[in-house]
Amino acid sequence: MATDALDDDVQGGRAPDFLALGLGGTSMMAMLWAVAMGRRAVGVEMRGDPFLGVHWNIRADFYHQLGLIDQLMVERYGEQRIPRRGDSDKLFRLAETFYGRETRAGDIVADEIIDAFDVEQHIAGTIHHVEFIDDRWRDGVPHRAVSLLTPPAPPDRPDAALIRTNMSEVLDGPSTFQAGAASVLVMLRRYLEKVEQLDLEGGFEPRVRLFTRHRVVNTPDGFVRQEDGCLGFRVEALQELDYRGKFVRIRRPGSRVIEIGVPELFMIAQGFHSTDAERLGFKQVDVAVDHQDGRGPVVAQADFLAGLVEALVGGRLRRRISSEFDEQGQEYWVRQIAVGHEEDPEVGWCLVQVPDFKSFDPIREGLLPEGTDTQAPEYFAAYDTLVYDFYAKHVGDILEMPTEEIKKLQMVYGPKLFTLIERVGADALLAPNGVVAGDSFGNGHFLTSGGAMTGMVGHSWRVYEYYQARDAGVPHQQAIRTLADKIKEDTSCWLHVSAKEYSEAVPINFGAERIAQITALGGIPASARAAAIEATRRQRHSLIPLDPSDWRRVFLRNGKVYAAPLPELHAMHPALRGQQSRKKGARATIAVVAPDLQPATLRFIEGALSQPGTKLGLITQGSIDALPESVRERLAAFVGVADVGDAEQIVRAVGQMRKALGQPERLLGPTAAFQVPLAEARERLGIEGMTAEVARTFADASLMRQRLAEAGLPIARHARIESVQDGMAFGTEIGYYPLVVKPHQGTRARHTYRVDTEEELRLLLERLQPTAECPLLCEEYVEGRECTLEVVCMSGVPAWFSATRFEPGLLEIARHPGAALRITLPREQDDPADPLVRRMGFAALKALRMDAGLSSLRWLRRPDGTPLIADVTARPPVGPILSLMALAHGADMYRVWGNAAVNGLFAPIPRLYAVGAAFFRTQGKGTAVAAVHGLDEIVRELGDIVVQVQAPRAGQPWSNAPDGDGFVLLRHAETAVVDEALKGIADAVWVELGERAAVVPA
Ligand SMILES: Cc1cc2nc3c(=O)[nH]c(=O)nc-3n(C[C@H](O)[C@H](O)[C@H](O)COP(=O)(O)OP(=O)(O)OC[C@H]3O[C@@H](n4cnc5c(N)ncnc54)[C@H](O)[C@@H]3O)c2cc1C
Repeated sequence: MATDALDDDVQGGRAPDFLALGLGGTSMMAMLWAVAMGRRAVGVEMRGDPFLGVHWNIRADFYHQLGLIDQLMVERYGEQRIPRRGDSDKLFRLAETFYGRETRAGDIVADEIIDAFDVEQHIAGTIHHVEFIDDRWRDGVPHRAVSLLTPPAPPDRPDAALIRTNMSEVLDGPSTFQAGAASVLVMLRRYLEKVEQLDLEGGFEPRVRLFTRHRVVNTPDGFVRQEDGCLGFRVEALQELDYRGKFVRIRRPGSRVIEIGVPELFMIAQGFHSTDAERLGFKQVDVAVDHQDGRGPVVAQADFLAGLVEALVGGRLRRRISSEFDEQGQEYWVRQIAVGHEEDPEVGWCLVQVPDFKSFDPIREGLLPEGTDTQAPEYFAAYDTLVYDFYAKHVGDILEMPTEEIKKLQMVYGPKLFTLIERVGADALLAPNGVVAGDSFGNGHFLTSGGAMTGMVGHSWRVYEYYQARDAGVPHQQAIRTLADKIKEDTSCWLHVSAKEYSEAVPINFGAERIAQITALGGIPASARAAAIEATRRQRHSLIPLDPSDWRRVFLRNGKVYAAPLPELHAMHPALRGQQSRKKGARATIAVVAPDLQPATLRFIEGALSQPGTKLGLITQGSIDALPESVRERLAAFVGVADVGDAEQIVRAVGQMRKALGQPERLLGPTAAFQVPLAEARERLGIEGMTAEVARTFADASLMRQRLAEAGLPIARHARIESVQDGMAFGTEIGYYPLVVKPHQGTRARHTYRVDTEEELRLLLERLQPTAECPLLCEEYVEGRECTLEVVCMSGVPAWFSATRFEPGLLEIARHPGAALRITLPREQDDPADPLVRRMGFAALKALRMDAGLSSLRWLRRPDGTPLIADVTARPPVGPILSLMALAHGADMYRVWGNAAVNGLFAPIPRLYAVGAAFFRTQGKGTAVAAVHGLDEIVRELGDIVVQVQAPRAGQPWSNAPDGDGFVLLRHAETAVVDEALKGIADAVWVELGERAAVVPA
């Protein structure tokens, strides 16, 4: 009956007890309370049927309130005057239409349920999965903590005793139901319409009158102020039309103004921005929130992309917080939310926060040339692409689906960029007989799932209380004052919980208890704050104006409906799964290039072979006979070559393995010296992996330093030396000694020299004879503690790290050949690689375009505390460091390497111990071990800390390498204990050297 035909017929519409302007959830619930309390209610709505395209998470209080309305209606009016469902005799009970134990959830059409065409389903879905994913980086690397929380049990039946009247309590509690906003609103609207129809047809004074497609007259005549300040209203019928490409509403031609008169109570709830409240002088101000991050109070504002993806998110509330980084590496926390509907594969509302630095500017992002007209369709198309790509990636992260799969899905809305700004009014009282409520009074953050709750459960309940007060004899003035104050109080509660959404990580709509659980698991204190920069946001706004009314428009992206259950939540952070698994079926085919079959090389081959389903072909200069049986029998192919340093030979060898292997998916080699030919072969064969250009940068010491310097990273002054003169000129330029001379390629300390005078430099260069083909690198000598940083990268993202420190440095040992080296891998993350060093290391790898794998950086801690990069290699560390890493983390690092290289997966490994390696000082001259002193005693004394001893044997040749020939490996939970024990070994143990002939035992 709410049709245009009623325009002139205002039967029962005059001077109502309650007038609602705007018929969203707040107003309709308020009207229902008014009617349930025996009042006449009139509603005026500018649009037709409810249209709101969002999906709500709903607290159980709403269901209990519907139950109470049902009860009050029957008690007051008797069953005869309760609307029916369709043509049936079935009473239209709001609570059971919304949810019931006997009916089920699913893909519904609200009207079909209301009209009892569909008697098996109800409108709401219940929440079965409450999940929180904390993907914020920790200690500079990706980290994941997943909290799976117990969802609240849905109530058996509505129970008025369970209605909470304190909005903080309501919002602090978790949501029980999920429902399409439009379905809920249609349910409320149809109920009101049916009451109206029942009364008009039954000849009763209508309890409800609805004027849809109407508004308060758009001129000052719309409001009629009485002497006592109370307001009367005049409304007009509307016609909506497309006028020359613009959407306009005008008074319906030929229609007459309707005199509503003066209601006892009116309520304006017209959404975010109410023109009527504004016309009455109501003002909202931006809400400022102090995040305690040093910036003071700032406007509570955030940008989101919203979209409806057709995927079976199901009865699920999944929230995620993740780290995003701007070009300067500054970290931002961004949130995403996925809301579904039980058994409905077409509901996957995904909202994705946009970090402040993201501008979606096609010119800045390099999609369009400088100067492109921002009004051109190309500009908008490029902007649209950037927005969609960003959205699809984040939706993929929250739904655990590859971005490409997300892009195949149908979207009936969005992604649409909108800005949320919290705003609130000072007083909800507009006139002696009216208030403003719902979003029109104030709005918090929608991620709290609190807007509809605040309006429908909070504000509308205050109308119920108003009528209770009136019935109890409370004067109107006093009752309406309380109503306005309570509206403000409810909204303040929403703003209070919303404030946390801007700065704290954990989601408020999970309930206080669950929040405590999540905080404990994430490991990042709740008081921690993310960075935020306001400037770019302003720029983004000026690029494409945002219009919140776009919520009301529908955009369609054709595609498929994903009706299968969502993929399981992965234990690993998405950044650690950057490379898709290379396995086809159960198999991953790889070719490994190895110059030799020494034990260290074999360990890498075994690391790759240990991955289930690996089919491995080996290309080597070594003989197959050198392979242990256990490895040989697991090889799918073996090809011997004369020189693995020749890309051509590698390509040919891969060709020869084709029959057994097909095209390998990966071409790997653990040895630094052969990365360039390996990369060249990869390129020629079209196999993914490090490119030749990147490999050359790592191999060329001066090119690498150039890249690091360009990235603004601290390195020593250096020069490429192609002749003795070059070197002497560099010495002169630096002007002081000592200097360091090393090979231009490779980083072995064994070939690194320190020269203390000009004369020493000359003698060394004359001996080494650098040329253009075989250059050297000359560097200033930098004093400092030598350290390393080992980093696992996945798809260019640093995924994990560990660090070691040396005592004394390798150059120092080169200077004092007898000295003993000690290496510690401390248990503490910050020792020695504090956050600054880690950032420096990660930035270096980024500058050198390290994509995937385990790399090793050597760096120095200068006496003034500042770090400096000495070298970067794109392959696993040499010497004992890999063994130390394995010991400290209780993991087989070769398998870890294999998993990353073969499967593209890396699971961060917690550090369990501090570990150390002690090498031995020597005395005497000679090339062989004469005797080892003090070892047995100290090993006995140290006891369980010692995990491995490699004791040199008398007569064994002595290599003089600082990290070779003999060592002790130690492990303990405390770093200080390891350091102390290492020192004890260095003091107590010494190797006596002698000439081989003299020391070889018989
Ligand atoms: C993405 C998103 C997700 C959300 N999720 C949740 C959630 O999970 N849970 C939750 O509780 N809340 C949620 N909300 C918030 C919730 O939708 C709103 O807070 C709620 O709809 C506000 O209700 P309202 O009655 O105040 O106004 P609205 O629902 O906006 O209704 C206002 C009505 O007034 C009409 N109107 C406007 N101007 C006039 C006029 N001049 N004359 C006549 N009629 C007029 C409009 O047409 C409309 O029908 C979400 C919001 C968004 C944006």
